[in-house]
Amino acid sequence: MNGQRNRANREKTPGNRTDTLIGVFMIHLLNAEHPLEDWLLRHNQPGYRIRQIEDWLYRRRATTFDQMTNLPQPLQQQLADAFTIWTTHTVRHQQTSDGSEKLVLELFDGGRIECVLLRDGIRRTICISTQVGCAMGCVFCASGLNGVDRNLTSGEIVEQMLRLQQLLPENERLSHVVMMGVGEPLANLSGLLPALELASDKQRLGISKRRITISTVGLPSAIKRLADQKTAYHLAVSLHAANDPLRNRLVPTNEHIGLQAIMAAADHYFESSGRRLTFEYVLLADINDSDRDAHELANLLRGRPALLNIIPYNPVAGLPYRTPSHATLAAFRTILEDHGIEVKVRQRKGDKINAACGQLRREILPLKAPDVSAGPHSKFAN
Ligand code: SAH
Repeated sequence: MNGQRNRANREKTPGNRTDTLIGVFMIHLLNAEHPLEDWLLRHNQPGYRIRQIEDWLYRRRATTFDQMTNLPQPLQQQLADAFTIWTTHTVRHQQTSDGSEKLVLELFDGGRIECVLLRDGIRRTICISTQVGCAMGCVFCASGLNGVDRNLTSGEIVEQMLRLQQLLPENERLSHVVMMGVGEPLANLSGLLPALELASDKQRLGISKRRITISTVGLPSAIKRLADQKTAYHLAVSLHAANDPLRNRLVPTNEHIGLQAIMAAADHYFESSGRRLTFEYVLLADINDSDRDAHELANLLRGRPALLNIIPYNPVAGLPYRTPSHATLAAFRTILEDHGIEVKVRQRKGDKINAACGQLRREILPLKAPDVSAGPHSKFAN
């Protein structure tokens, strides 16, 4: 079924899309490990070409090589023959009155991911996916309902950023990145870290590391690696429960990890980065929203220099979970604040476009997982 769908797309989609699919030997330019510098050297190009090309890509938002008008025309052609800039195409673009925009992108192998642009005052925040699906299995989340198909390459992660940047008028820039789209970012460090280096590089997207948040279900060894690499990104740990029995029910991957190991890794990250952590807590009616839950959470967080981000549940079609009432939310918050915990309730921006994790993708996802039998990297070099 998916094989048929992919074939059909291949036949009917014009332009770049066809190029990327038939271009077995083309290199994805956005992959962080791309050999553009080597390639330019081998083609006897002066050293400054790399800056010119990257300036066009990341700053001037060029979408094709022939828009890079300060490059000699023959070079534009050679680049177009060797590299592809885009490997995805947009299958859905939704907008809301609050200024949020969401893209569902189809990858070269038929897999689908989503990414979101949120406008809030002068902030231009993008929410980015790191995997096709998710293996963590959080019971209330839409992203993992079909499991995980594969990790995204660094180029596919960067491509989401550039596609969202293209939605902004020329005088506006991306200001914040949250790795809170589909997938578990720390389960794909090899795609994530090069992509974030590129996002934070002053010569490229130039988004300050302090304004880049990695949200994780809590994978201690990967948190430790991040800490040891002194990456300086903002870390948000998704707790959703303050004791192991409840967390095992909501976040099944907790069973072989446990809260203690997660909190120890989070403390280590704080010590080595000096950055205050955020803990996320999705509030689910009658499941983790009682006064007792609030007191237990306060005990867990007390003494830690942390911010608690409470996220009222955003209902997912077909799942039995509900959003708590305003009164319950307020009571929960008050208990935490009375214990001296700093609390923020996450604004429900983008609700109308199902901006919570994986929801839109799921709505339009085929029943079976995409056909990736050819292997994720078979068409594009890293
Ligand atoms: N895998 C990462 C990123 C997930 S998305 C993580 O677990 O942190 C970011 C946050 O949104 C997570 O805390 C996730 O649990 C939460 N989330 C997922 N589905 C949600 C929903 N339907 N409503 C509200 N929050 C949700």
